[in-house]
Amino acid sequence: MDVKVVTKSEIIKYVAIILAFVLLITTVVFGVKNNKANEENEQLSSQLAENESILEEKLSENKALEEERNNLDELYKSSIELNDTHESIVDDLNKQLEELNKQLSAKKNKGEESTTKKKENEAVLPEPIPAKGKTVYLTFDDGPSIYTDEVLDILDKYGVKATFFVVNGKNNHIMKEIVDRGHTIGLHCYRHVYSEIYASDEAYFEDLQKIHDVVKKETGVDADIIRFPGGGSNTISKKYSKGIMTRLTASVVEKGYTYFDWNCYNGDADGANTVEKQLNNIAQFPRGAKNIVVLMHDNKEATIKSLPKIIEYFQSCEMTFGVLTKDTEYTNHPVYN
Ligand SMILES: [Zn+2]
Repeated sequence: MDVKVVTKSEIIKYVAIILAFVLLITTVVFGVKNNKANEENEQLSSQLAENESILEEKLSENKALEEERNNLDELYKSSIELNDTHESIVDDLNKQLEELNKQLSAKKNKGEESTTKKKENEAVLPEPIPAKGKTVYLTFDDGPSIYTDEVLDILDKYGVKATFFVVNGKNNHIMKEIVDRGHTIGLHCYRHVYSEIYASDEAYFEDLQKIHDVVKKETGVDADIIRFPGGGSNTISKKYSKGIMTRLTASVVEKGYTYFDWNCYNGDADGANTVEKQLNNIAQFPRGAKNIVVLMHDNKEATIKSLPKIIEYFQSCEMTFGVLTKDTEYTNHPVYN
């Protein structure tokens, strides 16, 4: 067998070759690997950069949105403020309008009132009759009513006292007011129903006692002057009791009462519903009588309107105003039943 001898230098040569080869392989492998990693790294880096730029973009978008939202908020706020301002302006305008309407209607009312007042003031007083020394007694029947307070105010305004022949009703509490304000209270009837009060002498006195007791209870006054419903001269009572007025006019006096008819009448219960009509009636007072007893009704609205003029008329005649008492001189109507 042929044995080849390997020299030391040859061994070193082979080892060197092998080592170089291994080194080469390793370098190549690592280089490739490194390259790959680098590539990946690069890729990741660029992706990261891309992501960053997207993020940045999103952030700036977000910021823009937020700004927009803030702007919208501001806008909303200011629109609310504007709305509030508008509302308050509208409120103010409405208030002003309301006030103007009020003023307008007040002016209108005043205008109407003054027209009515003017009309009434225009009602010319009848020519005054010189009647110095005569006394006029203003009397009011059928109250107290819802108008009595006004009558009392007018009388106060002119400083005139009057006589009230009262009936029982819803306004009995005003009886005290009548007395407290210095007027005289007399009795008319409890129930203003002819068929009942003139049914008999007893029926009449029963009714008279009832109104007497109401007045006593309301005012403490023991009234002693009366006025017959329909007056002493009424003939309607004939229907219910023949001769009753002849008997009653005597028997009331026996019982301590004085009764009063009238010799002047404003006509308020017979259709005289204007100042002019009432004044014309009033001006018919009997020229020869010393005392003038004026019949009126304090439950008639027209009388409230006429009363100032009626008072002024008697003042223009220079008459004195008085209140009826049990002893006032006066001639009653003739009796017809
Ligand atoms: Zn009456």
